[in-house]
Amino acid sequence: MEIGVIGTGYVGLVQGVILSEFGMNVTCMDVSEDKINKLNCGEIPIYEPGLKEMLSKNFQAKRINFTTNIKSVVEKSEIIFIAVGTPSNEDGSTDLNYVRDVARDISKYINGYKVIVIKSTVPVGTSNLIKELISDELKKRDFNIDFDIVSNPEFLREGKALKDCMNPDRIIIGSESEKAKTIMKNVYDVFNINQTPFVFTNLETAEMIKYASNSFLAVKISFINELALLSEKVGADIQVIARAMGMDGRISSKFLHAGPGYGGSCFPKDTKAIVDVGNKNKEEMFVINAAIKANEKQKQKMVQKIALNINENGNLKNKIIGILGLSFKPETDDMRDAPSIDIIEGLVRAGAKIQAFCPEGMKEAKWRLEHVNKSVKYMNDEYEVAKDADAIVIITEWAQFRAMDLKKIRENMKDSYFFDLRNVYSKKREIMMTDFKYFGTGI
Ligand code: NAD
Repeated sequence: MEIGVIGTGYVGLVQGVILSEFGMNVTCMDVSEDKINKLNCGEIPIYEPGLKEMLSKNFQAKRINFTTNIKSVVEKSEIIFIAVGTPSNEDGSTDLNYVRDVARDISKYINGYKVIVIKSTVPVGTSNLIKELISDELKKRDFNIDFDIVSNPEFLREGKALKDCMNPDRIIIGSESEKAKTIMKNVYDVFNINQTPFVFTNLETAEMIKYASNSFLAVKISFINELALLSEKVGADIQVIARAMGMDGRISSKFLHAGPGYGGSCFPKDTKAIVDVGNKNKEEMFVINAAIKANEKQKQKMVQKIALNINENGNLKNKIIGILGLSFKPETDDMRDAPSIDIIEGLVRAGAKIQAFCPEGMKEAKWRLEHVNKSVKYMNDEYEVAKDADAIVIITEWAQFRAMDLKKIRENMKDSYFFDLRNVYSKKREIMMTDFKYFGTGI
């Protein structure tokens, strides 16, 4: 089976590599020459555990290849996955320009029946828009070719993308065409070793499932974060509360970890997008809107907590703050909407100098934080971060920060503030009580 994947980012690359791993012939296309050149030289443009090894095996076996030439991909592929970015516009609506560009390109080069699969997260109604766009272009050229549109949203988590893609909890196939549904089932059946359930539905429902799922998780995070703020004030322990809540089968323990706020390339933009769709349809999304506001507040609360504990007037002039973890979560280099950006900006505004380290996020951080780069130094490890620092702040819980040599960290520091925004350590741990001024989140 010849498969084309258009957009070779976190989603497209992982999808392409996995399809090739299960024996399909895959061509991944991207407009970024730099990305495609790197991939053709065996270099991976993103950090995703296990991806490099799986890619190089299939690349050598010639089951996957990379190109910037969309014409060749459209012409030879029976199934075309669209996995380009769908970022937010300033007003929170979704920028569909990349998806539209691809649709126009497909309409130019389509040469026979194709299943066009929208993997990008797109607002409800987009799949139909794409169908109309392609049909209109074909009509203009008086070209009569059959094609079907499928909405097949992706649920992978960065850092666990290969596992998630190979063992999804469910496979959503939205389409009006029985033929396309069968073709898609055949594709997924090849690697559906664990008998993952399929949900066959229409385009609109498939599109909404993705937003409903991400918004629900964002609400859950904002909910526990808000309770964490209250717990701190009333002497309760959010970790015990979350554990007890999670024991209730109706609630589940997942996504109940208090922290500095959600970030990444999906939750912030997808929550804003569904609110925008609500507004356009005159249905205000009160709950999701509240989650967005609570998330913004959470990041600012972290800045206040750090600043006000170090200095009661919140001024951090001449203070050095060591930041551990910049990526929006561990095991990824993705810095899109990472809470670290807002927190660092806030600390710099309060006058602090920052020393930061992240195992994979620093390359991205350097340009995303360019506007404050005069106040930010990037270090080689956690012990360098601690050098002469007044405070350490764990923003992202990379595994290597879980068993640091805390004696050495303290010896390197000037003062002893330790802000553990992910509750990696315990305030009851002896060294935290004796050597540090320890602050967790919601405890
Ligand atoms: P990404 O930015 O990593 O990758 C998108 C790629 O598309 C880029 O490499 C870009 O150069 C390419 N591109 C843009 N216009 C193009 C065009 N006209 N032709 C060919 N290539 C083009 O984005 P991503 O994180 O992979 O996300 C892609 C989509 O999947 C988004 O809609 C996102 O919301 C959704 N999604 C992402 C995740 C995730 O964890 N990253 C999970 C589920 C769904």
